[in-house]
Order: sequence, then C-alpha cells, then structure tokens
Amino acid sequence: MITPRHTRLVRVDDLHAFRRAIARLVNTSDVVPSVPSVPTVVVPSRSAARQIAHIDIPHDAVTRDELYERFHARLSAPPRRLGSLEREVVAQGAARHAAAAIDDLPFRLRPGLIVEILRFYDHLRRQSQQVKRFEELIVHALGHDDVDDRAAQRMRQQTRFLASTFREYERRVAESGGLDEHALRDRLIAEAAIDPVRHVIVAVPDWIADPNGLFVADFDLLARIPGLARIDVVCTERILASGFHERLHNWLPGIEEIAASALDGFIAADAVKPVLVTPPGGAPDEPWWTLRDREEELVTFARRVLRPDVPPPGPARPELVEGRALRQFTALPPATPGSAISRPGERHAVVFKRPLPYLYIAAEVLPAAGLSFRTFDALPLAVEPGASAVDLALSAAAANFGRESLVALLRSPHFVFVTDGREVMRESMNALDRMLSDSRYLGELTKLESLLTDQDDGGARPALEAAIDAARELAPLIDAQPASHHVRRLLAFWESHLRPESHDDPLAGRERRARSAVRDALSALAGAHEAHDDPEWTIDELALAVRRTIEDHTFDVESSGDGVHLVDDQAARFGDFDDITIVGVVETDWPERPRRNIFYPPAILKSLGWPSEKDRRAAADANFLDLLGSSAQRTVISTFTLDDDALVSRSPQLDDIHRARLSTVAELPFDDAPVFFEEALWADSPAMERLDPAARTWAELRVSRSDPTVGAYHGHVPDWERSTDGVGTQTGWSVSALETYLDCPFKFFAQHVLKLEEEPDDEEVMDPRRQGQLVHEVFERFFAEWQNAGHRAITPENLDTARQLFAQVVDRALEALPEAEAGLERTRLLGSPAAAGLGEAVLRMEAERPTPVVERLLEHRLNGAFTIATATGPRTVTLRGKADRLDLLADGTFRLIDYKLGWPPNRTRALQLPIYSLCAEQRLASHRGRAWTLGEAAYLAFKGPKRVVPLFSAPAERDKVLAEAQQRVADTLDAIDRGEFPPTPDDVYRCETCTFASVCRKDYVGDV
Ligand code: SF4
Repeated sequence: MITPRHTRLVRVDDLHAFRRAIARLVNTSDVVPSVPSVPTVVVPSRSAARQIAHIDIPHDAVTRDELYERFHARLSAPPRRLGSLEREVVAQGAARHAAAAIDDLPFRLRPGLIVEILRFYDHLRRQSQQVKRFEELIVHALGHDDVDDRAAQRMRQQTRFLASTFREYERRVAESGGLDEHALRDRLIAEAAIDPVRHVIVAVPDWIADPNGLFVADFDLLARIPGLARIDVVCTERILASGFHERLHNWLPGIEEIAASALDGFIAADAVKPVLVTPPGGAPDEPWWTLRDREEELVTFARRVLRPDVPPPGPARPELVEGRALRQFTALPPATPGSAISRPGERHAVVFKRPLPYLYIAAEVLPAAGLSFRTFDALPLAVEPGASAVDLALSAAAANFGRESLVALLRSPHFVFVTDGREVMRESMNALDRMLSDSRYLGELTKLESLLTDQDDGGARPALEAAIDAARELAPLIDAQPASHHVRRLLAFWESHLRPESHDDPLAGRERRARSAVRDALSALAGAHEAHDDPEWTIDELALAVRRTIEDHTFDVESSGDGVHLVDDQAARFGDFDDITIVGVVETDWPERPRRNIFYPPAILKSLGWPSEKDRRAAADANFLDLLGSSAQRTVISTFTLDDDALVSRSPQLDDIHRARLSTVAELPFDDAPVFFEEALWADSPAMERLDPAARTWAELRVSRSDPTVGAYHGHVPDWERSTDGVGTQTGWSVSALETYLDCPFKFFAQHVLKLEEEPDDEEVMDPRRQGQLVHEVFERFFAEWQNAGHRAITPENLDTARQLFAQVVDRALEALPEAEAGLERTRLLGSPAAAGLGEAVLRMEAERPTPVVERLLEHRLNGAFTIATATGPRTVTLRGKADRLDLLADGTFRLIDYKLGWPPNRTRALQLPIYSLCAEQRLASHRGRAWTLGEAAYLAFKGPKRVVPLFSAPAERDKVLAEAQQRVADTLDAIDRGEFPPTPDDVYRCETCTFASVCRKDYVGDV
C-alpha cells in the first residue's frame, strides 16, 4: 500500500534562508497532530548534524546511512544489518567464487579491488539498476561477442566476472540471514513499521551535487515507504539550477514547489550579504589571499581575528575586544590545548574541503595564538598512537623477527614486556640491540633462541627472554592460517601486552577510546571472517587487511565547546557564522575530484546512469558560490602555493568568485603586534605567564642557558674530563681517533669523549667494519701461512703458489658466512673475470718489487711515546696504533701497507700511514741489530681508480709529507686538549651518513 504523502520542494535563495527554512520546517512538523513524532532531517555528515543541534525543537538529524538505521530500527523483529566489514568479507568470498569459474581473469583479486567491486555494486543498486540489467546494458554497449576487439573482449569478460560476483554476493547475503542496504530497502517498502517516521526533511541534494547526497533508490524509498506522511526537500536556487531540479522531478514526479517565504512563520531576514575581505594591497581581479602553505593560512587567520587595530564587525563585543588585545597577552588565562582559552573566534569559521591536515595544523597554530577551537570531524584511527602499536607487532612478524623490528616492538611505549615478574627496562633492550647486532642476528625465532646462553650478555638477558616470548606468541602468524585465527592471535598479543593506562595522563581518556576502537575493529574483522568467509592468509595478507581495517576507521575526538569553528564545506552550509575563512582553495581540492571508476570508461558508465563531468562541475560551482555568501558579515578566501614542498596551483573556482556578486573590502595591513606564544617569547622580556607549567619550565631553562655566541654553544668544552678516558690522554689517542677528529671534531667528541655508541646497522651483507676485520684476518693468515711454509718474498716465480695459498685461505675464511655474503667477499678478495681482486693487487705489488722481504710484521702494534717534529721543535706524544703490514726489506728499508676498504684517504689529511711510518722507524731502531728507514708506504684500496696508492710519489716528497703529518698530529692533540670539538666536518656530506647526527648541532655546520 502506498501511503498518501505530501512531497514538497522548498526553494531557498541562499544558505541563510536554507538554515531558517530547515528550522521552520522542524518547528512546524506536526504532520499527524494526534501522533507525536520527531522530524528526521537528512544532512550530509555528522559534522553537519552537529551544526543544527542548536535548533531547540526536538528533531533527529541523520546522515544517509543513519536514515536507513532509523528505518531499520522501526521494523518489528528485523534481521540484523550487515556491517561494512561483513559485507566486504562476503564480497571477498563471492569474488573468489566467481573468479574460480572464469579462465584467464585479466586481474588479481587484491583486497583493494574487492572494495572497488563492492563500491561499484552499491552504486549500481543505488541507481536502481539490477544485476541482470547491468550485464545487458554493458554487453549491449560493447557490441557482439564476435567483434574482434581485444579491449572489448576483456571488458566483456570483466563484466561476466562482476555480474557473477554480484549474484553470488546477493546469494550469500540472503543465506547469511542479514540485510545489506539494498535488501533492507526492499524490506522497508514491503513491510510497514509499527511506529513509522512521519516527516523527512531532506537537506542534501543528490550524490551528483554532493558526494554524501541521496541516490535515485533513496528518493524512490522515500516515495514508497509506508507511513511517511511528508517529505520536504530544501535546496538553494543555485543547486537546483545546476541540474538537480530536473533530476528531482524525474525521481519524484509531481513534487510540489514552494518558496521558503511561503512556509508558515518563515521570517525573511534583511538581505544579508557578507563583504569579501581581500588581502591588503591585493590586485582587484584577485580577491583571494595567496599564502605559502596551509599552516600560513591558519597563521594569517589567527592574525586577522586577533589584530588589535580594527574594530570587530557588528555590534561591539567587549569580550572580543579583550581577546584581540594582544598587547594584553599576559592577561589571558593559561593555554591548554583544546580547552577554552579566550572568546575571540566564537563566530568565526575556518572552512576546508578536507579536514586533514587542517585539524592537525590548527591544534598547533590556534592554541599558540590563544585561540580555542572546536572540531566536528572525526580523525583517522590509524594515527592514534595505540593503533600504531598493532603495526609494530605485524612488522616484527613480517620481518621474521629481524633485529630492528623486534627491538622496536620491545621499545614501544604502548607495550610492556615482563620477565621473572619484572618489567623489561630500556637498558636491557639497548643491550639486546647491541648483542643482536654483534652476533650478526638477521632474524628467525630459532636463531633468537640459540642466543640464550649462560654467558655474560651485558644485561641483555631480560630483553632477550621477552623477545623470545613475544616471537613465540607471534610466530604462528608467519604460516598461512585461517584469517580469523590470525586476527584473533594478533589481537590477543596486542591486548595482553598493552601498557596499563596511567590515571595521571591527561590523554588517558583519548587513549582508552582509541584502544577500544582498535579492539572493536579487529574483533569485527575476525568475527566477519568466522561468520562468512575464512580463507587462509599469509602474514602479508593479514598485515594488509588489518592496516586497511584500521585505516578505514575514524575516531571522534572530544572537542572544546567554544572558540573558532573548524568545519568542512558541507557542514558549513548548516552553520551560522559572522565570519568565514575558506582555506585550501587549490586545484587538487576545489572542486572535489570524483572518485574514478576503475572498471568502465565514462561513456559506458553513462548508460548505467552515471552523471557527466559537466553536471558534477556545475553542482560543485553552485555549492562554492552558495558558500561564499553564507557568512553574516565577512568572507575570506585563501589559497596556497606549496603543499609538502610541492608546488600546487590555485583552484579554477577562484575565477568564479565574481559570480557571487559580493562587495569587496581590502584588509588594512597587519601591524606587528605579537599574536603567538613564540612571538611573545621572542621579545626582549619574554612573557611566560601563559605557558603551562611544563612548557614554562623548559622555556625558563632555555632563557637561562648560555649565550648562543659563546664557545660552549659551538663545541668548546675546555673542562672535559680527561681522567675518565681510559684510552685518551694517559695511554694516548689512537691515530685512527685523531683521523676521526680531522673528519669532524664533534664526531670525535661524541665517539671518544662521550663514548656514544654508533647505531648498529643490519645488512644482508657485512658492514664496513666487519669487512675490514675479515680482510685484515685473511691477509694476516695468508702471510703467516706463507712464512710458516718456508717462503719469504713473493716473486714472479712463486706468484702462482701464492695465489693458490691465498685462495685456500679465503675459502676457509668464508666458510662460516652466509652464501650471499660469502659470494660478495670472494669476488672482492679473489676477483672476477671482469676485475682482479684485492689479493691479486697485494701479491703483484710485492712480486713486482725487486728488493726481497726479509721479515714481515703483521698487525704490528705501535703504542707508547714517540717523538714528532713540529714547527716549535721536537715533541714527545703518546700514541696508539696498529700497522696492517710492515715488510722489512733486505736493503734496510721497510714497506708499510695499509688496507682500505673504501677510497684511499686524502693525502693532505691522512695520518695513519705517515705517523705509523714515523713510529715504526722509532720502534724498529735496533730491530735485528740495525736501523730501518721508511722506503715505501702505500694504501691498498678496494675503491678508486687504482688499487695501490703510494703515500708519496717520489722519495723527495717523503720528508714533506711526514713533516706535515707530524704538525697535523701536534695541532690535533692541542685542539683536543683545549676542548675544541666544533661540528665542522671536512665535507658537509659526511653529516648525511653520520650516526651522531641526532646528538649534534649540525644546523651550525658552516656557521663556525
Ligand atoms: S652530523 Fe656532521 S657535524 Fe655532526 S658530528 Fe656528524 S659529521 Fe660532525
């Protein structure tokens, strides 16, 4: 039975009338006088619903989805509604079923594709299309099967797959006993509710004019649902003219039309038109503000709202005057993020197309200017810290418990791990990190377990035990298992290790709600798979599904009840403001880009009822122009040029501003009164009274600290504790440490004075330090075996023997290494058909020299006091060092060799070869009963154009090179003694790979 109903279109001129018309319709909603009922107002979003919450007559503001929820709730004993996750899971099963029956499906069934399939199905059904009709229309549009067009054939195959998926989906939904939106619609039309909704006020257009609008099927439902007595569609003239008027008449034939002024009791306000506030000195044909980025937009907004030199529009409001008196900055109450701070901005709205990132930026910018704000949009759950902890557990399992991901899991502040009844502390985790790195652990539970020995582990044991326990709990996720098992296991791990909430934490409430939202989302995912489709998942599939589930959830953030309104453009239509600032009017956002259909081109979609781009653009322009005139007094429009450092273009809609016919007024130039906390802090006498206690403590510390021009600020530490250094001044610095000083004095300070540990680095191949150790060991072993075998010098005659022995030594040394790593090192040492290895360079170098070797000193230590010559005379210094190889030659000279894995050092800065040469001459003074002098010194370098790089190219150069190196050592030791450790790398690129960058004022590099 079709209920007689009154269906009206209420036409309004602008958004002022739009809001008053809605209020009036709610006020006069006695459709069946004897039956009390509350009118239902359909709005585009929750945020919009909150904007009309001020209407004091009871009403129910709902989104489209909530409208179905209300209808569903009024049926007697209805089947339950399937949630979006459940529907997705049903669709996954249906798609797999359909794909199994089709050969050569041209695409893979990824989770993202299932979402698109379901979205397409929903659109079809909301356009009142049935699956059979969809298939017929597409096949008809593509032509006959015998047409030899590969693209058309692919599309026909895709259509068969989609139609088959849709049918299977519908069968599975029916079988589940639940209802999706489409089945519910059929039921609502067939079955009368006991207490039906009597009056629906539709305050959204269709989905073509508003992405959250109603569809053909929704208007059809409203026209046919039993018990509904009145439908009022409220719409502005501009939106109607964009094409909605014609569509509405097609869907609701015979709809009555009235002007808002004809509504009972509607009071036409005085013609209200805001002025458009243009930037100071702006061009007349560009009445918008062009700012650098989104943050600058909000900064400028705050300055405008708070500027002291312009009276506020409208009647004087003493509290606003107080708030904008920034010179009274210190008189305002203390700032607490999200709390009411001051009254300015109460009647102001910042309007954006998309809430993010404006909501995040506003949380930084507005409170810093003493402005409170209120938000109405939900934030993504994925960015809540508690949700990110799920990701850590997934990453650890996906990386097979590799060091970095495992330690990151243990270190997460959201988790607590316990061994022997005590929480594992950070020191133990750091020790574990170092231990895993030293033992070359690259993942796998069994390898992790094998590290648990009785040996001294430097305090890593509690963390190691916790890591093993965690890995055992998560290890089953690595094997393929039913989806629901995986999700429940992950959830159980997350819940059992969550750190208990702290009652003192001001954010504990938010954290609790976020945790609850994560719990609900994962439980729903597991439940949906248990109920409908439980395929075997790998860890990658699990990670993808869990991340998508969390990313799809939003999270309501409690907002303060006053201050500036931060609203999206849909909600702004429903809000009543004196002053609106429309921000972010750039090409990528305004107009909103339609979501592209991935299955069919626009021409084919048109036959299914999809709108043309022209219709959509006309509606977007109409919405924009309506919005421009929606404030009571002032409108500002701003665009920006940089988005995440990428250039963006302004929106083409800015060129339509003149169509709104607003008068303009140029803003006066801003004065330089401080607006933000930091500006007050920059003053000669910083105002700290308004900072919260924690920030104030830090600010006072910063103010009281040393003058940035003094030396301490730039690495001058005259009183550094030399006595604490066991290897520094007493036993001498190692020559390689002095080279580090020459690389960068602050790096030396961090490494050798502060003794900070470098971050370990996991690589499939060896890091440079380990490579160096291996190379030294290999050469040391080779020459030891060479000498033990009775050989002395390597000559052209025994070169092949040397090569064979070297290859044997290399093979033995590489036995313990993983295959990939061993292959790389073998090539490095023994060479490849393309290039000779380092061994060949070493052997040849000796074979080509005529003077025989009488003794070889390998890894030869050079520690103690040495005399160096300096510009001020001879000087005794204590040094430590180890020469890679010293070959004593028959002519009383020696050859010094240094192996370099990378490029040979710059000879003007190098210390090791020249200083070792000098030290060796002094140490070998009576070795074998005679003196030894340096004959040759060379680097054997892995990288660079030459393998053998001599320290000096001619004997005449020798003395000069040695003299300069000695002076460098003297100068370096003096600088260390004076405590000069400035961040002055020899090359700024060194900072990019420096592991001490996080503790270094490298921003001063170049200043000192
Ligand atoms: S980051 Fe740069 S300046 Fe700082 S210690 Fe490292 S190399 Fe030196």
